Amino acid sequence: MEITINKTNLSVIQGDITNQTTEAIVNAANPGLMGGGGVDGAIHRTGGPAILEECKEIIARQGRLPTGKAVITGGGNLRASYVIHTVGPVWHGGGRDEAELLRSAYRESLRLASEKRLTGISFPSISTGAYGYPLDEAAQIAVGTVVAFLKEQETSLTDVVFVLFDARAYDSYRSALEEIADGSHAA
Ligand code: ADP
Repeated sequence: MEITINKTNLSVIQGDITNQTTEAIVNAANPGLMGGGGVDGAIHRTGGPAILEECKEIIARQGRLPTGKAVITGGGNLRASYVIHTVGPVWHGGGRDEAELLRSAYRESLRLASEKRLTGISFPSISTGAYGYPLDEAAQIAVGTVVAFLKEQETSLTDVVFVLFDARAYDSYRSALEEIADGSHAA
Protein backbone atom coordinates (compact mmCIF):
# COMPACT_ATOMS: atom_id res chain seq x y z
CA MET A 1 0.00 0.00 0.00
CA GLU A 2 1.46 3.35 -1.09
CA ILE A 3 0.29 6.92 -1.57
CA THR A 4 2.07 10.09 -2.69
CA ILE A 5 1.92 13.33 -0.72
CA ASN A 6 3.55 16.35 -2.32
CA LYS A 7 6.58 14.53 -3.78
CA THR A 8 6.97 11.94 -1.04
CA ASN A 9 5.99 8.28 -1.40
CA LEU A 10 4.44 6.99 1.81
CA SER A 11 4.23 3.22 2.07
CA VAL A 12 3.33 0.47 4.51
CA ILE A 13 5.21 -2.84 4.30
CA GLN A 14 5.67 -5.92 6.44
CA GLY A 15 9.32 -6.63 7.26
CA ASP A 16 12.35 -6.18 9.48
CA ILE A 17 13.45 -2.56 9.84
CA THR A 18 17.13 -3.56 10.18
CA ASN A 19 17.09 -4.59 6.48
CA GLN A 20 15.74 -1.31 5.19
CA THR A 21 17.75 0.74 2.71
CA THR A 22 16.22 4.16 3.37
CA GLU A 23 18.88 6.70 4.37
CA ALA A 24 17.59 6.59 7.98
CA ILE A 25 15.67 4.14 10.12
CA VAL A 26 13.92 5.08 13.34
CA ASN A 27 14.55 3.25 16.61
CA ALA A 28 11.82 2.96 19.26
CA ALA A 29 14.37 3.67 21.98
CA ASN A 30 14.09 4.26 25.73
CA PRO A 31 15.26 7.42 27.53
CA GLY A 32 18.63 5.93 28.54
CA LEU A 33 19.53 5.06 24.92
CA MET A 34 21.28 1.91 26.14
CA GLY A 35 19.59 -0.58 23.87
CA GLY A 36 17.04 -3.09 25.07
CA GLY A 37 14.56 -5.58 23.67
CA GLY A 38 12.27 -5.44 20.66
CA VAL A 39 13.21 -3.29 17.71
CA ASP A 40 15.84 -1.45 19.81
CA GLY A 41 17.70 -4.70 20.49
CA ALA A 42 17.49 -5.73 16.84
CA ILE A 43 18.92 -2.39 15.62
CA HIS A 44 21.88 -2.50 18.03
CA ARG A 45 22.58 -6.18 17.26
CA THR A 46 22.65 -5.62 13.52
CA GLY A 47 24.19 -2.14 13.64
CA GLY A 48 27.07 -3.08 15.96
CA PRO A 49 28.74 -1.24 18.86
CA ALA A 50 29.38 2.09 17.08
CA ILE A 51 25.73 3.08 17.52
CA LEU A 52 25.79 2.48 21.28
CA GLU A 53 29.03 4.47 21.58
CA GLU A 54 27.38 7.46 19.93
CA CYS A 55 24.30 7.02 22.13
CA LYS A 56 26.50 7.12 25.25
CA GLU A 57 28.13 10.35 24.05
CA ILE A 58 24.70 11.91 23.53
CA ILE A 59 23.57 10.90 27.03
CA ALA A 60 26.81 12.26 28.54
CA ARG A 61 26.26 15.55 26.71
CA GLN A 62 22.55 16.15 27.20
CA GLY A 63 21.23 13.59 29.71
CA ARG A 64 18.36 11.21 29.20
CA LEU A 65 16.17 11.67 26.16
CA PRO A 66 12.69 12.90 27.12
CA THR A 67 9.62 11.09 25.79
CA GLY A 68 8.56 12.51 22.44
CA LYS A 69 12.05 13.77 21.50
CA ALA A 70 14.54 12.38 18.94
CA VAL A 71 18.29 12.28 18.31
CA ILE A 72 20.37 10.98 15.39
CA THR A 73 23.44 8.71 15.18
CA GLY A 74 25.24 6.96 12.38
CA GLY A 75 23.96 3.60 11.21
CA GLY A 76 27.04 1.49 12.00
CA ASN A 77 26.82 -1.78 10.04
CA LEU A 78 23.21 -1.22 9.01
CA ARG A 79 22.29 -0.60 5.39
CA ALA A 80 20.78 2.71 6.52
CA SER A 81 23.35 5.51 7.03
CA TYR A 82 21.58 6.93 10.09
CA VAL A 83 19.47 5.85 13.04
CA ILE A 84 17.01 8.34 14.50
CA HIS A 85 16.34 7.34 18.12
CA THR A 86 13.04 8.49 19.53
CA VAL A 87 11.19 7.67 22.73
CA GLY A 88 7.50 6.89 22.50
CA PRO A 89 5.18 7.03 25.52
CA VAL A 90 4.47 4.10 27.81
CA TRP A 91 0.70 3.40 27.67
CA HIS A 92 -0.98 4.15 31.01
CA GLY A 93 -4.59 4.06 29.80
CA GLY A 94 -4.63 7.25 27.72
CA GLY A 95 -4.87 9.92 30.41
CA ARG A 96 -1.21 10.88 30.54
CA ASP A 97 -0.90 12.71 27.25
CA GLU A 98 0.12 9.50 25.47
CA ALA A 99 -1.44 10.49 22.12
CA GLU A 100 0.34 13.86 21.99
CA LEU A 101 3.64 12.29 23.06
CA LEU A 102 3.33 9.65 20.34
CA ARG A 103 2.58 12.37 17.75
CA SER A 104 5.64 14.22 18.98
CA ALA A 105 7.89 11.17 18.55
CA TYR A 106 6.90 10.93 14.86
CA ARG A 107 7.07 14.70 14.27
CA GLU A 108 10.48 15.14 15.94
CA SER A 109 11.89 12.23 13.92
CA LEU A 110 10.61 13.74 10.67
CA ARG A 111 11.89 17.17 11.65
CA LEU A 112 15.40 15.78 12.28
CA ALA A 113 15.37 13.89 8.97
CA SER A 114 14.22 17.00 7.17
CA GLU A 115 16.82 19.24 8.85
CA LYS A 116 19.56 16.82 7.78
CA ARG A 117 18.16 16.85 4.25
CA LEU A 118 17.72 13.07 4.27
CA THR A 119 15.99 11.34 1.36
CA GLY A 120 14.22 8.52 3.17
CA ILE A 121 13.12 7.33 6.59
CA SER A 122 11.63 4.05 7.84
CA PHE A 123 9.52 3.89 11.00
CA PRO A 124 8.67 0.91 13.20
CA SER A 125 5.41 0.84 15.16
CA ILE A 126 6.58 3.04 18.05
CA SER A 127 5.22 2.21 21.54
CA THR A 128 3.08 -0.80 20.52
CA GLY A 129 5.43 -3.50 21.85
CA ALA A 130 6.79 -3.39 25.39
CA TYR A 131 5.28 0.09 25.89
CA GLY A 132 1.76 -1.32 25.42
CA TYR A 133 0.08 1.35 23.25
CA PRO A 134 -3.11 -0.10 21.66
CA LEU A 135 -2.20 -0.98 18.08
CA ASP A 136 -5.10 0.48 16.09
CA GLU A 137 -4.96 3.79 17.94
CA ALA A 138 -1.20 3.99 17.53
CA ALA A 139 -1.49 3.22 13.81
CA GLN A 140 -4.00 6.05 13.27
CA ILE A 141 -1.77 8.49 15.13
CA ALA A 142 1.38 7.35 13.32
CA VAL A 143 -0.10 7.56 9.83
CA GLY A 144 -2.11 10.72 10.56
CA THR A 145 0.92 12.55 11.96
CA VAL A 146 3.19 11.64 9.05
CA VAL A 147 0.56 12.58 6.46
CA ALA A 148 -0.08 15.92 8.18
CA PHE A 149 3.66 16.68 8.38
CA LEU A 150 4.22 15.91 4.69
CA LYS A 151 1.25 18.05 3.69
CA GLU A 152 2.39 20.99 5.82
CA GLN A 153 6.09 21.11 4.94
CA GLU A 154 8.32 20.96 1.94
CA THR A 155 10.84 18.25 2.82
CA SER A 156 13.85 16.54 1.30
CA LEU A 157 12.13 13.19 1.80
CA THR A 158 11.28 11.10 -1.25
CA ASP A 159 10.32 8.01 0.79
CA VAL A 160 8.68 7.43 4.15
CA VAL A 161 8.09 3.77 4.99
CA PHE A 162 6.24 2.14 7.87
CA VAL A 163 7.90 -1.24 8.46
CA LEU A 164 5.65 -3.57 10.43
CA PHE A 165 7.10 -6.69 11.90
CA ASP A 166 4.00 -8.88 11.99
CA ALA A 167 0.82 -9.32 9.96
CA ARG A 168 -1.46 -7.85 12.61
CA ALA A 169 0.50 -4.61 12.80
CA TYR A 170 0.75 -4.49 9.02
CA ASP A 171 -3.06 -4.81 8.66
CA SER A 172 -3.60 -2.10 11.24
CA TYR A 173 -1.27 0.42 9.55
CA ARG A 174 -2.55 -0.45 6.07
CA SER A 175 -6.14 0.20 7.22
CA ALA A 176 -5.12 3.52 8.75
CA LEU A 177 -3.42 4.59 5.51
CA GLU A 178 -6.40 3.44 3.40
CA GLU A 179 -8.78 5.44 5.56
CA ILE A 180 -6.72 8.59 5.17
CA ALA A 181 -6.23 8.03 1.44
CA ASP A 182 -10.02 7.59 0.96
CA GLY A 183 -10.78 10.62 3.08
CA SER A 184 -8.42 13.01 1.35
CA HIS A 185 -8.21 11.42 -2.14
CA ALA A 186 -4.45 11.51 -1.63
CA ALA A 187 -4.02 8.30 -3.64
P1 ADP B 1 8.20 -0.02 22.34
O1 ADP B 1 9.05 -0.17 23.58
O2 ADP B 1 8.26 1.40 21.76
O3 ADP B 1 6.83 -0.54 22.51
P2 ADP B 1 9.11 -2.45 20.94
O4 ADP B 1 10.41 -2.64 20.28
O5 ADP B 1 8.81 -3.26 22.15
O6 ADP B 1 9.00 -0.86 21.23
O7 ADP B 1 7.95 -2.69 19.89
C1 ADP B 1 7.62 -1.80 18.87
C2 ADP B 1 7.21 -2.56 17.63
O8 ADP B 1 8.40 -2.97 16.94
C3 ADP B 1 6.40 -3.83 17.88
O9 ADP B 1 5.28 -3.81 17.00
C4 ADP B 1 7.37 -4.94 17.48
O10 ADP B 1 6.69 -6.05 16.93
C5 ADP B 1 8.19 -4.27 16.43
N1 ADP B 1 9.50 -4.85 16.09
C6 ADP B 1 10.29 -5.67 16.82
N2 ADP B 1 11.40 -6.00 16.13
C7 ADP B 1 11.32 -5.36 14.92
C8 ADP B 1 12.13 -5.30 13.75
N3 ADP B 1 13.28 -5.95 13.65
N4 ADP B 1 11.69 -4.53 12.69
C9 ADP B 1 10.51 -3.86 12.76
N5 ADP B 1 9.71 -3.88 13.84
C10 ADP B 1 10.10 -4.62 14.90
